Amino acid sequence: MSDEPADIAIIGAGAAGLTAAIQAARNSPFPSRIFLFDSRQKIGAKILISGGTRCNVTHRQVVPADYEGGPRHFVKHVLEAFSPEKTRIFFEEIGVALVLEETGKYFPTTHSGRTVLEALLNELRRRGAQLKTGTKITAIKKDGEFFLLSGDAGFQMAARRVILTPGGLSYPETGSDGTGYRIAQSLGHTIRKTSPALTPFTTDDAAWKLLSGVALPARLTFYRNGKKVSERTGSFLFTHFGFSGPVALDISRFFTACDSSQAPAIEANFIPHESAENLKDRFSKASREHPEKSLRGFLTEAAAFPARFAETLLEKAGLDPRLRIGRCRSGECRRLFRAVFHYPLEVTGAVGYKKAEVTAGGVDLAEIKDSTMESRRLPGLYFAGEILDVDGRIGGFNFQWAWSSGTIAGASAVKSLYGVVKT
Ligand SMILES: Cc1cc2nc3c(=O)[nH]c(=O)nc-3n(C[C@H](O)[C@H](O)[C@H](O)COP(=O)(O)OP(=O)(O)OC[C@H]3O[C@@H](n4cnc5c(N)ncnc54)[C@H](O)[C@@H]3O)c2cc1C
Repeated sequence: MSDEPADIAIIGAGAAGLTAAIQAARNSPFPSRIFLFDSRQKIGAKILISGGTRCNVTHRQVVPADYEGGPRHFVKHVLEAFSPEKTRIFFEEIGVALVLEETGKYFPTTHSGRTVLEALLNELRRRGAQLKTGTKITAIKKDGEFFLLSGDAGFQMAARRVILTPGGLSYPETGSDGTGYRIAQSLGHTIRKTSPALTPFTTDDAAWKLLSGVALPARLTFYRNGKKVSERTGSFLFTHFGFSGPVALDISRFFTACDSSQAPAIEANFIPHESAENLKDRFSKASREHPEKSLRGFLTEAAAFPARFAETLLEKAGLDPRLRIGRCRSGECRRLFRAVFHYPLEVTGAVGYKKAEVTAGGVDLAEIKDSTMESRRLPGLYFAGEILDVDGRIGGFNFQWAWSSGTIAGASAVKSLYGVVKT
């Protein structure tokens, strides 16, 4: 047991924990009494691999509708208290220049997650908080005014405040193995059902797998028990095991949250930016003016489909890709438009936590105060980041949640000990 109790012990040095520790240290008269623990020797794995190693830090516009999980008003308050704009200023202050891409995503100008991680670590050092890597916290108990932390190899420590930022279950090789949920539960918190989110889909369909590497825009609609639940539009990618790309990842959280008794199903519209009526008109015109054109030719020209994709889709609809459009009978036309606009994707499952970018579900927000991120169940205990029941879509929204909730938790924990703080 270390002799002096810590002011604040932060469990998990990912995006949320690093931010919480920096904000706490910036505001504390005794920053060396702030301890940040991580089970891994090398921290920040998710920051380094994120955004294809480029780290999509945030988004131009972030609104509660970009998130699923707990109540949107909770997310709104957290984003208002530490907005994407404040995030950009924070990164500028610590020496990370950001660049806005056409998609609305912000990346470091170096296009390297390492820039982000190193800047956070430098700021943490500069502010004087203590980072303890290779220390896994396995249990936390409340004893009078202190929290008693136990860890691997007999580690013990007392702390006046605890911030839980151990992530969820996604990409466990980065350190987030679900211990955080067990600790939160042992301290009286409810964990809302977790499932992998932003994870690719698997398929048994050999023809689709042969299209590995082909990408095109699509709108995916998710149905549960025959009822539409959600719809997403974006880039869709065929892989050697199934379906991926931002739009597939975005819709995956609805699929993984279901069991097979709820008949989860995904329908694809492969021309999301055009109405069926428009395409039908163009088809009629083309069949009058160029009746000898093949179905494949029509789809590659009119819908800008990659040729291999057009061929596979037509074969799956039971149509000969070489069929002349002038000879297409009404039943064949119906099959064509149905395949293009309402294709039932042959999804067999999702890749799961192993390749999930985030975890859906987690600590119930009803048990947390949105103004401070403090537990309503156990005063002195705070939460931030992925451990909470919030998951964002692709585009920098999950890091934004980590920066915002981490900032509020770190500043509030110090304020509860020493009074007024600024963020
Ligand atoms: C491949 C990939 C790409 C991504 N790309 C993006 C992107 O570009 N933009 C975006 O916004 N989001 C992205 N995300 C999501 C984003 O990385 C997460 O939302 C974010 O990292 C969550 O931060 P966190 O601090 O809550 O948890 P984590 O980053 O998971 O950090 C938790 C930390 O706690 C430690 N820990 C766990 N349990 C214990 C314990 N018991 N004791 C001590 N330490 C513990 C872990 O070792 C880990 O370091 C991506 C995720 C992945 C996997």
